[in-house]
This record gives sequence, structure tokens and C-alpha cells, in this order.
Amino acid sequence: MKTSSLSTWAQNVSPSPTLAVDAKAKALKAAGEDVCGFGAGEPDFDTPEFIKEACAKALADGKTKYAPAAGLPPLRELLAKKYIEENGIAEVRPAQVVVSPGGKYSCYLAILATCSPGDEVIVPAPYWVSYPEMVKLAGAEPKFIFAGDDQGFKVTPDQLRAAVTPRTRMLVLNSPSNPTGAIYSKEEMEALVEIAIENDFYVMSDEIYEYLLYDGVTHHSPASFGPEAAERVITVAGFSKTYSMTGWRLGTLVANETVAKAVADLQSQTTSNATTFAQYGALAALERPEESRAAVREMLVHFDRRRLKLLEGLNAIEGVTCERAKAAFYLFPNVSSFGLSSEEFSSRLLEETKVAVVPGHAFGAEGYVRLSYATADAIIEKGIERLASFCSSF
Ligand SMILES: *Cc1c(COP(=O)(O)O)cnc(C)c1O
Repeated sequence: MKTSSLSTWAQNVSPSPTLAVDAKAKALKAAGEDVCGFGAGEPDFDTPEFIKEACAKALADGKTKYAPAAGLPPLRELLAKKYIEENGIAEVRPAQVVVSPGGKYSCYLAILATCSPGDEVIVPAPYWVSYPEMVKLAGAEPKFIFAGDDQGFKVTPDQLRAAVTPRTRMLVLNSPSNPTGAIYSKEEMEALVEIAIENDFYVMSDEIYEYLLYDGVTHHSPASFGPEAAERVITVAGFSKTYSMTGWRLGTLVANETVAKAVADLQSQTTSNATTFAQYGALAALERPEESRAAVREMLVHFDRRRLKLLEGLNAIEGVTCERAKAAFYLFPNVSSFGLSSEEFSSRLLEETKVAVVPGHAFGAEGYVRLSYATADAIIEKGIERLASFCSSF
């Protein structure tokens, strides 16, 4: 055996392209270049002070030991309560809740706990970059259905029905969506979940952006659509995007008790608990809802202003068209009129004008690029100017 030979899993996995773009932009910046970075997949605000204080207090109080693998009991209890009261799921027991080191890991364990080699997982594109890789790491097969800007980036029941086979094990839903910022209405989502119930497969509902909403839209959790939905839907979320806590690594999962236990068991053998003192910060966020809501509201004021600025700027550029995304912190303009692949468009844009965007190709959507508006207003203004001049050179 050669020491350089790798497993099937390692050979098949691709590194995260969004993290790569961000790293490249940061490296250029460190080298003294004036970069306008739209690659970031994280809020640019600091974590609210009261959450940091709760974590610091936990550290000072010696909360530095292992905790139960599935999470601190009071945190699981408050999460169960949140899912009943805020998300409208009829019944959630703490035993159905698992706290993980990041929503990303919650997604992976949801797939690993339910999908086997030979199973198919339906992944609507544009998709978050990690879903197909996670499905492959479980030995299962991703099956893509595509929804472009002509259908608001949302798949239809007909598309889903056509993709279902006897091997379908799971549908991935990500509303609000990364990379498009699209959000499904209750009716649209119900129609998809109905098909999952009829054909008896799981739905992994990634709701990490559930609180980042604009234009008065409402988020709906598919697990709230009745007992048959609650049985099949695995709800994944976390603290990263809502409270600007990406570095804390805290994700959550709610599922039926059998799946939740399997997820906790997998976690107990792979990572053990999410960092103990970090969980005390999350606990404070749930224990002090008034302060949490105020912090989110404050963040949303800035996101919304930047969203409209970026949207207006993009749509003013000839050859660029951009949907009015109503959630998360991304816009996903169509740049196909320039005749370049999204990869070429993005790399030339970075080289020639020092503007960093993520090629749509990474999300299974050629002809688009993703811009995050989790960045300063001045960067948005400067970035739009550079993008406009780049586009006018065609
Ligand atoms: C950021 C993100 C996550 C998870 O983030 P964590 O930092 O791991 O909690 C999950 N899904 C989507 C779509 C995301 O954008």
C-alpha cells in the first residue's frame, strides 16, 4: 500500500468552493490589494455582547468538561420549546433535539443517520455546496432537479414527482436558500412535503436562515405541517447565521426520536458534544428572547438596506438580471448574457477588478454568480462600480 493512497470517500470529496473564494480574496487583501469581497458566507457583525458574556461566564465557572453528546439538557429543552412555540411543530420532546458542532455537521449526520449506499437523495439546484458531497460521503447518490430564475429558483411539485424513484430516500429543502435567497411559501412547501409523505421518504429541511427575512415574508417549517410531516422531516438549523456566531460551531437538529437518537449516537462516536462553554452562549440567546430579537432586528436593518442597494446596482448593469431575493444575505444574478462560464466570469472579475464573487457552477447553476451582502455599504458601492465597468467591456 502506498502512503499516498486515499479512501474512496476522500478521493470523491471536493473542497468547499465558497471557502476557497473567500480564502483567495483574503489572501489578495493581505497582500495589499484593494479587494471587494462578496464571497463571504457569514454575517459581518460581532456576536451580541450578552451571548459572549454568558460564554465567558461559563468558562470562568469551569464549564470546561465534556457535556452529554446530544447537548446540554436545558438547551435541548429550550430548543424543543422554541420549535413548538415559534415554528409551530405540534409536539417536540427534548429527546428529539440534538445540538451539534455546527449546522453543517447537523446536516451531515441527518444524512448519515438515514441514507445508505444505493439510496437516492433529491437535491434541488441551485444548492448549498455541501449537500451533494455529504450525500456522497454517506455512500448515497445525489439526484438534482433544477430551478432557475425563470421559476424564482423554486422547484415545482411536477419536477419533484418526476425525480422520485423507488430508491428515493430523502429530499433536501433549504428555505430560505443559500445561494439564491429564495423562500418557499407555505403552499409551495406543503405541496412538496405531500409528495414525500405519499412516497414515504425523508425531508431534510435546512432552516439556518429562518430569521433573516425581508419584504414581510414569513418562514414556514415543514415539520409543522401535521403529524405525518413531523415524522419524516428532519429540521436542521443553528446559531451561526441568526446571531452571527459562525465561529462558535453550534448547530441544531430536530427529528423523530429514532432518528434523533441515531444522530446523537453517531455524534457520540465522532465528535462528542459541541463545545461545552459555547453552548452556554446559545443558552443565553434562548433564555433572553427579547435581547435576541433586538439583536436580530438590528442586523436585519443593515442587511435589508444593503440588499436593496446591491439589487438596484446589479439590475442597473446592462446584461445582468437579478431576482429580488427576500431572505438570507445573498443575491444570485444571472450573468449568462456575457457568454462566459460562471467560473471564467468570476476569475476574470477577481483578476481584472479585484471583485470576489462565487461562480454559480459551485452551486449547480451555470450562468449565475453569488454575491453576499454581508459586507460594508462602501464595499457594495465600490464593487457595483467595478462590476459595471467590467461588464461594459463586453
Ligand atoms: C451556513 C450554512 C449552514 C451551516 O452553518 P454552520 O456554521 O455549520 O452552522 C448550513 N446550511 C446552509 C445552507 C448554510 O448556508
